[in-house]
Amino acid sequence: MNNWPEWLPLRENLRSLSPYGAPQIGDVLQLNTNENPFPLPAEVQEKIVTRVQEVAASLNRYPDRDAVRLRAKLAQYINYRAGTKFSVENIWAANGSNEILQTLFLAFGGAQRKSLGFTPSYSVHPLIANVTGTTWIAGFREDDFAINSKTAAEQILDEKPSLVFITTPNNPSGTSTPISDIEKLAVAAGEVGALLIVDEAYAEFSAEESAATLIVKFPHVVSTRTMSKAFAFAGVRVGYLVAHPLVIDAAQVTRLPYHLSALTQAAAEVAIDHAELLQGGIDLLLGEREKLVSGLSALGWRALDSSANFLLFSGFSATSASTWQEFLNRGVLIRDVGLEGYLRVTVGTPAENQRFLTVAQEIAQ
Ligand SMILES: *Cc1c(COP(=O)(O)O)cnc(C)c1O
Repeated sequence: MNNWPEWLPLRENLRSLSPYGAPQIGDVLQLNTNENPFPLPAEVQEKIVTRVQEVAASLNRYPDRDAVRLRAKLAQYINYRAGTKFSVENIWAANGSNEILQTLFLAFGGAQRKSLGFTPSYSVHPLIANVTGTTWIAGFREDDFAINSKTAAEQILDEKPSLVFITTPNNPSGTSTPISDIEKLAVAAGEVGALLIVDEAYAEFSAEESAATLIVKFPHVVSTRTMSKAFAFAGVRVGYLVAHPLVIDAAQVTRLPYHLSALTQAAAEVAIDHAELLQGGIDLLLGEREKLVSGLSALGWRALDSSANFLLFSGFSATSASTWQEFLNRGVLIRDVGLEGYLRVTVGTPAENQRFLTVAQEIAQ
């Protein structure tokens, strides 16, 4: 919205922005926000309810401001995943990794500071840059959406940002950046005194090593992660930061007091205790992803190589916007990510994917 009234003292740099958001439409297949399509197993649902009931007895009190028990569990989890040796001091948790990103911008960005990310990528990064008054620089990717580590490193050295973002697997392309390239960018970021923020929201779907393994060597590398995708926990809002303890300490200055509710902490602790159960559907989703890839190619369409639970595809004859609408008219909600010629689809349940392919076939005819 651009025509805000005179009496509303909205900050200049926010006047042309819109709030982030994909359409939330009922009664259609939701293949547009990269959620895990499988509900929590009944056993985990019950344990969460029991735990929440216990916590309800002390809801008159503020929650643990430092979420120590949750962070200890997250440290254990990341150590198990990445083979690292982190403890509570290396972890920060918040209401989704989006809040983590905001915390980092508030602490390390701001006026007179630059942030750099390789686009197309997660659109929330430039949005929070704007909101916090940090200059945003769109870095280069190749035509196949890969990051060229040489030109990317040069861009970091030229621009001297204080924050550099890599999303891997990348959203919306699904492609991943090898750890060897991330390491090269970590060297460049170190030379200009920048934090290298690796957004690993989809790490559990990928076979690449986590950038968290680089932190022992490069204290300015941080990994942001979430329970919204692989953990099937998007409704609870839990994201976390893996970093050197001094990064965590500095970022905490900008957090709101008691930001993470006692209910959230309790539910998340139960979920992490059942990580394997909650992520039990990942292999099935990866198999389904490959079925979608071949289904699309049978139509003469193409999907990019994805290491995540979604696909970016092209090859349809009409525009992205009208093809998106064609899908929606047939009850399938996918994502128009603003890249002409491409659309993004989240891998759903086998039945949902079958429906998606049937609809795609109708549209392709
Ligand atoms: C979905 C997503 C997130 C997750 O955000 P939450 O706030 O944790 O739900 C973060 N980064 C990327 C790239 C994403 O696609």
